Amino acid sequence: MEKKNVPELFGSMVFDDRVMRARLSAKVYHALRKTIDENVKLDVEVAEAVAAEMRDWAVEKGATHFTHWFQPLTGVTAEKHDGFITPSPDGGVIMEFSGKELIKGEPDASSFPSGGLRATFEARGYTAWDPTSYAFIKDHTLCIPTAFCSYSGDALDKKTPLLRSMQALNLQAKRILKLFGKEVKYVRTSVGPEQEYFLIDKEMFEKRPDLVYTGRTLFGAMPPKGQELDDHYFGVIKPRVTAFMEDLNSELWKLGILAKTEHNEVAPAQHELAPIFSTTNVATDNNQLTMEIMQKVARKHGMVCLLHEKPFAGVNGSGKHNNWSLATDTGVNLLSPGETPYENAQFLLFLCAVVQAVDDYQDLLRLSVATAGNDHRLGANEAPPAIISVFLGDELSAILDAIKTDSPYQGKEKEVLKLGVHVLPRFSKDTTDRNRTSPFAFTGNKFEFRSLGSSNSIACCNIMLNAAVAESLKQYADRLEGAKDFESELHELIKEVIAKHERILFNGNGYTDEWVKEATEKRGLLNLKTTADAMPHLLDKKNMDMLMSHKVFTESELHSRCEIMLENYCKTVNIEGHTMVDMVRKNYLPAMEGYLYSLAKTTSMMRSVSDNVKCNYEVSTMERLSELTDAILDRVEKLEKALENLKAFDDIIKTSEAIRDDVLPKMEDLRKYVDEAEMLTSEKCWPFPSYGKLLFSVY
Ligand code: ADP
Ligand code: MG
Repeated sequence: MEKKNVPELFGSMVFDDRVMRARLSAKVYHALRKTIDENVKLDVEVAEAVAAEMRDWAVEKGATHFTHWFQPLTGVTAEKHDGFITPSPDGGVIMEFSGKELIKGEPDASSFPSGGLRATFEARGYTAWDPTSYAFIKDHTLCIPTAFCSYSGDALDKKTPLLRSMQALNLQAKRILKLFGKEVKYVRTSVGPEQEYFLIDKEMFEKRPDLVYTGRTLFGAMPPKGQELDDHYFGVIKPRVTAFMEDLNSELWKLGILAKTEHNEVAPAQHELAPIFSTTNVATDNNQLTMEIMQKVARKHGMVCLLHEKPFAGVNGSGKHNNWSLATDTGVNLLSPGETPYENAQFLLFLCAVVQAVDDYQDLLRLSVATAGNDHRLGANEAPPAIISVFLGDELSAILDAIKTDSPYQGKEKEVLKLGVHVLPRFSKDTTDRNRTSPFAFTGNKFEFRSLGSSNSIACCNIMLNAAVAESLKQYADRLEGAKDFESELHELIKEVIAKHERILFNGNGYTDEWVKEATEKRGLLNLKTTADAMPHLLDKKNMDMLMSHKVFTESELHSRCEIMLENYCKTVNIEGHTMVDMVRKNYLPAMEGYLYSLAKTTSMMRSVSDNVKCNYEVSTMERLSELTDAILDRVEKLEKALENLKAFDDIIKTSEAIRDDVLPKMEDLRKYVDEAEMLTSEKCWPFPSYGKLLFSVY
């Protein structure tokens, strides 16, 4: 194993602040910094100077191409490489890269989903440099993080609304801080996404069409051993996986990604990686890169990295935890309880803003994590339920309760808490994840949104979260700015918010049926179980009004996004359905027939030799398998019909409902019979590797 100098390796492929400071003239550097930090428009000369240095730096590092790197609505990143080479008069070439090429690109983007936003005649959307996320080199290509828009200015990507939502939050948070006498340059949200994934042997993967086409197994009987022993969680990491993780870390570090912790997860073959948190925009880019590099490095090690939310039935699926907080440019975390009474009042106000945001926009948070894959996890006793609620821990809840009712807090001081006068009683930070069943938990100085699926882009949920919190803060600022007596108005406001939104607070076990009942029947919280249920809420008036008033989305962008997300759901399940039909007709039924043939032949041969043989095993197996082949044929025909019926709908909402109510149940039904047949058939005759082989073959 080669020795690594980590500090030297770290960020070596990133045009980061260190490189900028070292290579750019002071004037150019400061202009660029102002653009990065304060969103000041960059002028052309500065862009030219930056482009020239970027090119020299990239060429020194072996880059031959550049690309605008962006995040279309497919959920994965896109890139189109252009060479630096330009012919020179002497017949050779020189390496060129202009300010214009840095700032703007025009990929032929007609095949990206636009949900009707971009008429085909103007299919050439454009990409625009996002200087707040550093350029980097990957595969000999200088990658420039960009936003992707149509010529009419509509966002066609996930980055543009994310940046807008960060702006909205910045604007409102600064208004609030001003009321507390603080002038800051900016407020940004930080995110640290914990990423779960599976690693399986490449040879096994390639033998499973369901994994190849859909990223998850659509069939498979349970192996004798699953995750019941809890022997994998935090267990010793297997050598092949260790080698993978070392390689992965190096690749991520080179790209300036702060990969920090790694461990085995609950399910066999499941692992987790967590980076140190960074600004949301950068964290989002980095998480996209992390997912891409995980898959590449796994291949190099003869494995495949599965990012699907539910690759295997019967063992836990994979999620992603979005650790989120707000900080000023001076590094003050606004979700950290303070040392003085005034700081505490400010902390409580920001805390209330988040609580209110989650309550008012439960539906937006839920739909921001809605995909066909994630529907298998939420509410399935392994992940938070589809109901969104907030965990604050007992102590903080008791403090809020005392404030709400003007009653003495039962802590040491035993006095009525007057905001702005009293220091908050010390409460222990709940950093221990004690309540893992909550979808949205306060963990000491940040909130952890845990409903994301492992393959989700974190952009979506952060757009909604930022916008919703900006809305709470806006309401507070509007009221407090006009207040005669700031402190008493603040006190009243916080009391009111607690009273109005305490229904969203829940510290108990979110996995129980009692909670579902209480949440939906008593508290009136939403329980949007599937993507088909959740996504249409994007177009609810209250949601559209809020998102549009903060300029996070335009009306047409919202319509197009709703359509694209639903389309994605329908297409995903449609592919799964067709894959099942394919596997059943081409592999499972013929395999069963082969085994039946051998059973029948054996029985008749044995009987021809002796009248005394009973052939109990052969006959009973044959009888049940034969029933199963008939049942499977019947179910596969029903599934084919259901898939065929989808073609008749011309409305995406109707299609998604048919997927939910008709196609998915038929898929499940079909699987049941095939999985039973697997248990009765000789492994030699079975066409695909078993769950046991998939889950336990990496050492
Ligand atoms: P766990 O959730 O396993 O207990 P931690 O809470 O220590 O682990 O960290 C999980 C993630 O939260 C890491 O990515 C970490 O960088 C991130 N994190 C820690 N503090 C903050 C913060 N203030 N804002 C955003 N993310 C944070
Ligand atoms: Mg966590």
